[in-house]
Amino acid sequence: MRKTESYSLKNASLGFKLLATAAILFSIALLGWTWYVSLSVIKFNRPSDMCRLLGDSLWALSQYKKGLFGVLVFFQAAAYGGLYLTSRVLFARTSLRRRMKKLLQAAATLLVAIDLLVWFTAPFIRTSQALVGYIGLASALAMIGLTLPPLIQLWFYQRWPNSKPRRVVVVGGGFAGVYAALGLDKKLGYHRDLEIVLVDRKNFFLFPPLLPSASVGTIETRQVTQSYRRIFETTNIQYKKANVTHVDAKARKVTMHVHLEAEDMADQSASEVTLLFDYLVLAPGATNQTFNTKGAEENALFVKELDDAIKIRDRIIDCFERAAVVQDDAIRRELLHFAVVGGGPTGIEIATEIQDLIHEVLLKRYPEIHKDHPEVYIIQSGPQVLPGWPEKVVETTTRQLKRLGIKLVLNNRVTEVRRDAVVLKEGAPVSARTILWCAGVKPSPLLASCSVVLDKSGRVPVDEYLRAQGFDNIFVLGDSALCIGADGKPLPPLGQVAFQQGDHMAANLARLLQGEPLKPFKYFNFGALISVGERYAAVDLLGVKLTGFIGWFVWRTLYLVKIIGLSTKIRIVIDWTLDLFIERSIAQLENPDTVHKTSADSGRELTATPQ
Ligand SMILES: Cc1cc2nc3c(=O)[nH]c(=O)nc-3n(C[C@H](O)[C@H](O)[C@H](O)COP(=O)(O)OP(=O)(O)OC[C@H]3O[C@@H](n4cnc5c(N)ncnc54)[C@H](O)[C@@H]3O)c2cc1C
Repeated sequence: MRKTESYSLKNASLGFKLLATAAILFSIALLGWTWYVSLSVIKFNRPSDMCRLLGDSLWALSQYKKGLFGVLVFFQAAAYGGLYLTSRVLFARTSLRRRMKKLLQAAATLLVAIDLLVWFTAPFIRTSQALVGYIGLASALAMIGLTLPPLIQLWFYQRWPNSKPRRVVVVGGGFAGVYAALGLDKKLGYHRDLEIVLVDRKNFFLFPPLLPSASVGTIETRQVTQSYRRIFETTNIQYKKANVTHVDAKARKVTMHVHLEAEDMADQSASEVTLLFDYLVLAPGATNQTFNTKGAEENALFVKELDDAIKIRDRIIDCFERAAVVQDDAIRRELLHFAVVGGGPTGIEIATEIQDLIHEVLLKRYPEIHKDHPEVYIIQSGPQVLPGWPEKVVETTTRQLKRLGIKLVLNNRVTEVRRDAVVLKEGAPVSARTILWCAGVKPSPLLASCSVVLDKSGRVPVDEYLRAQGFDNIFVLGDSALCIGADGKPLPPLGQVAFQQGDHMAANLARLLQGEPLKPFKYFNFGALISVGERYAAVDLLGVKLTGFIGWFVWRTLYLVKIIGLSTKIRIVIDWTLDLFIERSIAQLENPDTVHKTSADSGRELTATPQ
């Protein structure tokens, strides 16, 4: 097994450990000595007097023993310098989060700077004299606090009861996988006997709830992502970019495919890599469900991956550009019709975002296009949008959709998706050049190659501890798992289910590794929230119902909380703020020759089929 935790302190060389330890102990001794000598000038009776008397003592020294005073100030500065430098070197390698490290270091630096300042000015300024003892004590404690924990981490670590190293492999870095890996790292920290490896075919975490906003440019596309290398930078988690193609559950082996360029392919086997595991977390999510509808895979766009967002935005803008030029009325109508198949949350959010884009930006920029010509449709097979959602949210959403002028086609099934129209079971087809398929998801096809039991929908039934049938060491989470809730129904494919399962699995695996009993998973439903265009949202959160602007504000705040990474949060807030004042870009990013090609033309990979 490769040596892991390269940046963790316990893997440091013996020389480094000895040097760091000597530097810290020497600096602490020096600090103590300067205090002892300073205070011995005037006799103090009780330790509680120490801080108050240090100022008087320093003043006396600076007046009557100037040489000694200079030596003490120098040693004081040297001791802090030693502690400060070693703390910087060691701190970078501890398991604390990056932001926390920076905050603690900044606080300690400030204290030390103030301490040195009051030492220098104590002979001249009365306030410095009064404060020097207290500030000195605080900064000494801060520096010792910063250096001692890493020092302990240098020399000591826990071991499993039987001292056997374990490797946990997490397949899929979505909500479930990332929360599971981070949770485990948080619970067990730098553990010499634990290796956590997360494998994902893309190198970033995607935040799907904001994909509709990215698809219309309210926020820039990259803002809905955070690179795994950044997320895991201060953790004990290794990340591998590869496409997992097969899991041999019995042999405890994950096989993955690494894409290599043509010249590297002389040895074909080089692109196949295997990874052995002790525990496996399967969280490859889901892929688009088209129910084998004719033409859907070839002619529709999807709202699932990052490149989908780029394609949608380009397609909408391109349709406006073409409509502004063509003279044929029927074609112009097709270009300005946007059909969304599926009246679930994704369908509604993307339809209302498109309507906002048209009315807030595009109609202004395309004076050739009459304001009544663009039309957005939502086609839903059932009698209402948002099936299964709280009644009040459904009511408000339907009212708002009508107010926005979005055309609802209910109780009608799509039988075919053509390049220029959606064919319905009943009635005339809806003509449209932009057709978005948001009619549900099906489990990742990878699960069928993982030698675990699947149900008829392709998901993996899990027990109360989220383990696959017949395996104590394989956990299945998120959209891939068939997990039965307290009401006896399967839990829905939602982010809030996925991250709760990730957290829970991490806690359970930590228990398992420490020989403690597991706890069953209990899903907590925080509620439902949906944005319905024009700074309007319907929210039912923990029983509290909000609509309109306040609902929309809560919707945004909650998404912001859940997005991973401070830098991403800041970028999103900036984008949202700019969007209130500055018109968003309508530049097309894709090649103009390919923007109208369908998936079939471009050979785009539509499913998560392993290569
Ligand atoms: C547009 C949209 C909006 C949504 N809005 C909401 C919302 O508002 N609230 C909510 O609760 N839920 C929402 N969801 C649902 C939510 O995003 C999913 O339920 C959740 O992401 C599932 O998490 P997961 O970890 O199971 O899978 P995913 O998040 O899909 O992650 C799976 C990961 O596995 C990787 N992967 C797949 N196959 C392989 C392979 N073979 N090899 C390597 N890696 C692989 C993928 O690259 C991906 O990173 C939305 C979904 C979409 C698409």
